[in-house]
Amino acid sequence: MAKNWYPIINTELCTNCGTCVQFCPHNVFESDHQHPLVVRPENCVEFCRGCAKACPMEAITYFGDQ
Ligand code: SF4
Ligand code: SF4
Repeated sequence: MAKNWYPIINTELCTNCGTCVQFCPHNVFESDHQHPLVVRPENCVEFCRGCAKACPMEAITYFGDQ
């Protein structure tokens, strides 16, 4: 599991729809009032982009990308 790859949420774009929280099978996110929190970045799978593809607002990028 990755410590050098995890999602970063652009809080200005995020509408807190919850899609990423429901999508990720590794419990990287937890819901919060403003926007999801990346609470377990170490659980993120290196080079997975699933939550970014699922996000309707294109609000997710990755630490470790490029
Ligand atoms: S990149 Fe994949 S493993 Fe990482 S938080 Fe998103 S869906 Fe979960
Ligand atoms: S899927 Fe995108 S818009 Fe929806 S809560 Fe996650 S980051 Fe925010």
